[in-house]
Amino acid sequence: MTTRHDHWIGGKAVEPANGVYLPTLDPTTRQPGDEAAAGSAPDVHRAVAAAAAAQPDWARRPAAERSELLHHVADAIETHAEELMDLERACTGKVPAQLRLETDMSASYFRYYAGVLRAHHGRTIDQGAGTLTYTRLEPYGVVAAITPWNLPLNQACRALAPALAVGNTVVAKPSELTPASTLRLARLATEAGLPDGVLNAVSGTGRDAGTPLAIHPAVRRVVFTGSVPVGRHLATVAADRLIPMTLELGGKSPLVVFADADLDRAVAAAVSTVAANTGQVCSATTRLLVEASVHDEVVSRVAEAVERLRPGVDFGPIITEAQFQKVLDHFAQAHAAGAVPVCGGAPYDSGPAARGLYVRPTVYAGVSPGLRIAREEIFGPVLVTMPFADEAEALALANDTEYGLVAAVWSGDAARGLRLAERIDAGQVAVNGGPLTIETPFGGFKQSGYGREKGLEALHEYAQTKTVSVSLRS
Ligand code: NAD
Repeated sequence: MTTRHDHWIGGKAVEPANGVYLPTLDPTTRQPGDEAAAGSAPDVHRAVAAAAAAQPDWARRPAAERSELLHHVADAIETHAEELMDLERACTGKVPAQLRLETDMSASYFRYYAGVLRAHHGRTIDQGAGTLTYTRLEPYGVVAAITPWNLPLNQACRALAPALAVGNTVVAKPSELTPASTLRLARLATEAGLPDGVLNAVSGTGRDAGTPLAIHPAVRRVVFTGSVPVGRHLATVAADRLIPMTLELGGKSPLVVFADADLDRAVAAAVSTVAANTGQVCSATTRLLVEASVHDEVVSRVAEAVERLRPGVDFGPIITEAQFQKVLDHFAQAHAAGAVPVCGGAPYDSGPAARGLYVRPTVYAGVSPGLRIAREEIFGPVLVTMPFADEAEALALANDTEYGLVAAVWSGDAARGLRLAERIDAGQVAVNGGPLTIETPFGGFKQSGYGREKGLEALHEYAQTKTVSVSLRS
């Protein structure tokens, strides 16, 4: 039987004003799955009104009280992890390890900002005797969080936890392709004690629910994670309304391997780029740049390992039909341009994987930097490799992209790793597998967007600083 998911507004399940529900798809079988409310302007209006009504009280509560409630939300995610993973599996086909990773991280966002909230405040500014000057971190009001389909719950929590911590209330608009986990999260948050209206979720398409949300006059800040074209559109909407926004967009990130690197670990990192969420990760390091003397060896080791990855076990399907077609179009264009993959380059045509949207893990070796597969974000299990002669060429290739989200550098020479980290235009650089976690700020340079999520930076992203200066002279 098909389950229907309603909006969650003002602490209640709310049916869509137009009575319409949109089907989701199970990409492991291409069969329709659950249905979710097709949100439109009246639903958005109702959700924003609920968020606006709840906001002053939420913001006035002591930080310790908001913190306690955010911990309760984290508890609820952990307690209901299996259910959240089931909802997410049904419309993404993600493999168990990936689901577990994303769900654990979702709870951790709430834990982290619940903790930070109690320790991180404004500051006092010394202006001499007879004065008291201090800053306060104040919320914007209602925040709109518009999120994509690739890491649905995780990306929602990445934005919601710091936004709520500061005292904003939120209307979340998940992707119409993967709405169930975010809708369920909002209900769980209410059940965990978050006051009605503090966290609302409205499902629906970008056009019918996303745009009315971004243009709503009571929305004071937008956080958007998604594609460059939609990000550009929403940036113009925000500019017109003079409201700030966070843009977390795409990437075509480099993974740079020098001959003196620990090649076992570097090869493992390249393989995990293909396997992790089937390459459908904005921060995937999909351009493998390898020093010429070890290029062929690294390529053959990576190709051998990715060919051993098992569909449905080590990696899942492409989450959407349109994205599946886009990956196949990239293969066709690469073929037309004369590029021959070392492995993959096609969907599965037999066995259980052929029933779903599974693409074979793919490596194109020694590609020309001008090819589309070398320049555009593919968002599938696809690596392109390029050899380089020296450090200068490695740097030039790493920066030869309109994106700037992430970079990884592998070298036995730590100083060289740090030199590249200094010169690569990206929001975060990992040298020799250095961890990038909730504590480390995340965001793009260039076309990968602006603003920062994660870390203390995200708390400031959702707060406006107020200065209060008092003369104590009588
Ligand atoms: P998308 O831009 O198509 O959609 C993202 C969200 O925006 C969805 O909720 C969608 O309904 C909504 N939307 C679409 N059109 C809209 C409009 N006109 N007005 C308002 N909202 C609208 O992106 P996608 O295809 O769901 O996700 C894939 C993209 O997201 C990739 O480019 C990927 O790199 C990027 N991404 C970036 C990050 C990051 O943190 N930088 C993380 C994950 C994904």
